[in-house]
Amino acid sequence: MYKTELHLHNAAISRCAHTTDEEIVARYEQAGYTTLVLTNHFSRSSFNARSYASYEDFVHQFWQAGPRLEELSGGRLRVLTAAEVRFDTSNNDYLVFGVTKEMMLENQEMFWCSGLRKFRPFADEQGLLVYQAHPFRDGMTVARPDLLDGIEVFNGHPGHDSRNPIALL
Ligand SMILES: [Zn+2]
Repeated sequence: MYKTELHLHNAAISRCAHTTDEEIVARYEQAGYTTLVLTNHFSRSSFNARSYASYEDFVHQFWQAGPRLEELSGGRLRVLTAAEVRFDTSNNDYLVFGVTKEMMLENQEMFWCSGLRKFRPFADEQGLLVYQAHPFRDGMTVARPDLLDGIEVFNGHPGHDSRNPIALL
């Protein structure tokens, strides 16, 4: 049986995350997970929050985080990399699955500035899946459903009220 986490940040990249890599591995292993999809924030604000040398440096470190977690687990957890994207155009967060390092290196504008309407055709062309994260959290607006593949209905972050019961409806 596979048990997979689809929304996870680590403190090395995302400033909202407070768990160390060691804690992540220990807790998920204990809870019987086999696979983690590391979805760190990939946006201008997460870039600005740390002193990266350049966009390329950010992308490079972003892609190092997953393999490091996997290594730390001694290979017991499979760790994949995806991204939580926030465009300059709003405060909404989108979980984007199917991204690659090369895609990020070549499309900074698309990932940071485009907005969901422009991003959608790009996502289709690249075979990406786009889910709105915690759409009912304060400061978010629910995106047009035709631009999404789905929404997140359970978010376990203890510091935010994501209004999960509304999302489940
Ligand atoms: Zn998140």
